Amino acid sequence: MSANIIDGKAIAATIQEEVSAEVATLKAENDVVPGLATVLVGEDPASETYVRMKQRRCGEVGIHSVGIELPGDATQETVESKVRRLNADRSIHGILVQLPLPDHLDEERVLSAIDLQKDVDGFHPVNIGRLAMKGRDPLFAPATPSGIIELLDRIGVAIEGREAVVLGRSNIVGLPVSMLLLKRNATITICHSRTQDLRRVVKRADILIAAVGRPEMVRADWVKPDAVVIDVGINRVEDPSRRRGYRLVGDVAFDTVKKIASWITPVPGGVGPMTIAMLLQNTLIAAKRIEGLG
Ligand code: NDP
Repeated sequence: MSANIIDGKAIAATIQEEVSAEVATLKAENDVVPGLATVLVGEDPASETYVRMKQRRCGEVGIHSVGIELPGDATQETVESKVRRLNADRSIHGILVQLPLPDHLDEERVLSAIDLQKDVDGFHPVNIGRLAMKGRDPLFAPATPSGIIELLDRIGVAIEGREAVVLGRSNIVGLPVSMLLLKRNATITICHSRTQDLRRVVKRADILIAAVGRPEMVRADWVKPDAVVIDVGINRVEDPSRRRGYRLVGDVAFDTVKKIASWITPVPGGVGPMTIAMLLQNTLIAAKRIEGLG
């Protein structure tokens, strides 16, 4: 039997429609237009693409978006003062600093400068800290991890009491998704590059989250029959048959693992589209809270 494919694109589109309808109501009934500011430092092409996509999606749902672009050699003070100005801007409800920042900048200090109420990316150290503390209740949780939980909820996968294995411990995906799964009472194992006998550990997973950035590392014989497999990885592999010379694959060997799993996300079209959908949702929540409506 083959796994059910989790259609992240369709689920993200549904969330986008929900956000769009709420944004329209907010405008009609309260004359409030949610606003998102993106801060991009330098000219990293991938970051530029992500920021453009976020701005386009904002436009589609009626969220006002402002793009702040700073040169790659911008000073710490310049970046922080931009963020502070956005904190004070009444038309902006969410602030997103596109990561990674250039090496000379202190990322934690920049993220700490964001008003907690506007931290729609959930990377302010206080929000990350709250995620790790009892109650696990940040004002905002990071978008990709929230998107993963949303996918599990929308396909009706029970999380409580299940054995979840998270491959990867990054600040952006691995660690926060582990905390969110813990909040939902899963039993968590977090793996990383020093984990011994990875295959044996992964095989325990009822729910497997792969976020390592290694093309198709998780093979079919690593996966427990009927596991739910969420593949976060986005990796380019050479493919001369494609016009652009490469194709995107995940961290999971999709074609073989889908024969073992009960549910699996494809790459692309799985977790990826959820990230922006959750950002839009967070911006709407921020606007409602700041305007005293939520
Ligand atoms: P990082 O490089 O920050 O973290 C990778 C993690 O994987 C680290 O914890 C690392 O361990 C671990 N790791 C690396 N190699 C191995 C290995 N051979 N065995 C076991 N563990 C290993 O990556 P990110 O978390 O930022 O991203 C992971 C993937 O997800 C990437 O492909 C990225 O493109 C994708 N991504 C997708 C998003 C989306 O919207 N769909 C959003 C964000 C990321 P250690 O800590 O020991 O170094």
